[in-house]
Amino acid sequence: MLQFLRRKKEPKVFVVGLDCAEPSLVFERWRAELPNLRRLMEAGAYGWLTSSTPCITVPAWSSMTSSKDPGVLGIYGFRNRADYSYENMTIATGATVKERRVWDLLGEAGKQVIVVGVPQTYPVKPVNGHLVSCFLTPTVQRQYTYPNELRYEIDQLLGGREYDVDVPQYRTEDKGFLLKQIYEMTEKEFIVRKHLLKNKPWDFFMFVEMGVDRIHHGLWKYMDPSHPKHEPGNPYQDAIKEYYQYLDRELGEMLSALDDDTVVIVVSDHGAKPIRGGICINEWLRRAGYLVLKEEPARQGDKPIPFEKVEVDWEKTTAWGAGGYYGRIFLNVQGREPNGRIPQADYERVRDELVGAIEAIPDPEGNPLGTTCFRPEAIYRQVRNVAPDLIIYFGDLYWRSVGSFGFEGIYTFENDTGPDDANHAQDGMIIYYDPNQNLGGQRLNGLQLMDFAPTVLDLMGQPIPEAMQGRTIQL
Ligand SMILES: [Zn+2]
Repeated sequence: MLQFLRRKKEPKVFVVGLDCAEPSLVFERWRAELPNLRRLMEAGAYGWLTSSTPCITVPAWSSMTSSKDPGVLGIYGFRNRADYSYENMTIATGATVKERRVWDLLGEAGKQVIVVGVPQTYPVKPVNGHLVSCFLTPTVQRQYTYPNELRYEIDQLLGGREYDVDVPQYRTEDKGFLLKQIYEMTEKEFIVRKHLLKNKPWDFFMFVEMGVDRIHHGLWKYMDPSHPKHEPGNPYQDAIKEYYQYLDRELGEMLSALDDDTVVIVVSDHGAKPIRGGICINEWLRRAGYLVLKEEPARQGDKPIPFEKVEVDWEKTTAWGAGGYYGRIFLNVQGREPNGRIPQADYERVRDELVGAIEAIPDPEGNPLGTTCFRPEAIYRQVRNVAPDLIIYFGDLYWRSVGSFGFEGIYTFENDTGPDDANHAQDGMIIYYDPNQNLGGQRLNGLQLMDFAPTVLDLMGQPIPEAMQGRTIQL
């Protein structure tokens, strides 16, 4: 077990977060071509890191770093219902995270922390050290660092170029332009990360790279022969691999700056897999009689019509849905929603009926799709804020959920929110490397991302709060 390793002093911890990094690519397919990651794996230990449900960037990183599930966090995706009205939604910025994350606890214990680009760290909250906020930062023209002066230091470092918190235009059909933006962003980020690594004091350093997620969504079909739109011999066949190699080289440079008392942890918040298509959840609900519109959705050209633009007859509606990498269903309940239709006593019956019907939706050829519905109270310790009544993984996440109208049937092979080739996979990855302990490349099994925070606290000699839901990694 980790905690039995005798040390002169508590180690420092360096965390490399690769958003969406897919374990099968790192552990198997490109293993030989990623020398630095391979070295960490072979001298360390590694395995799958099961994500939260839903396996989405928000809330996954916050679940990992607070060791609380999405229900306890009260965050079920980027956009959450603000209340039981039909239209009020909130964006889950850092302000919605009420639980303390691992760097908060370490800071309170007097440890110096550096946190760079970890999702849900905007708006900026003070830390005992330095912080650069995440891809949810609306503009770098306002405070996005802690302390605020750090942003001027970054300006100087980049010689007048603007720091990118995300790929500025990642939903583009121009893949050359997309790659150019991804590399520009990542290059600037590494300049900042290396600067902080070498020039600021730290005991805990964590950064998250969003480029992996962006390149997967934008270019997955070019490298994956199992993707329905894959064309062999296309010019972008190696684009994702080359980006992983680029990250591996940059990572190698950062690793060479670490001392012998630093444990390295590489993590992803979820994996990635090809998207085969989308299920038009609201169109399906409409055809099944659960959702009633006041008029036929008005098509404008071949553009899909967002759910927000149609007139719903709420008095006749039982349930409605939302799109995304996973599906969400909301029930229209008497005394809860403004025009609630389902008597409270019938709630479970109606929900069970929906689960049965949704899980029975076949693929376009009539074969089983393998859809799973989750009831929030069954998978979370607590259900805070306004949770969806059902969370849906269509076809084991090979299919996404489409909330818009205007498609021919209930299936679509185009994304209503822009080009997208990949969906998230439930398992992300973890590599654990301790320079003082040869772990011989052993496989880690059964880890869940909430195990991250207690493992870090334990390593750094800190007590693990009882309310944390994960366990320390056992080697
Ligand atoms: Zn992610």
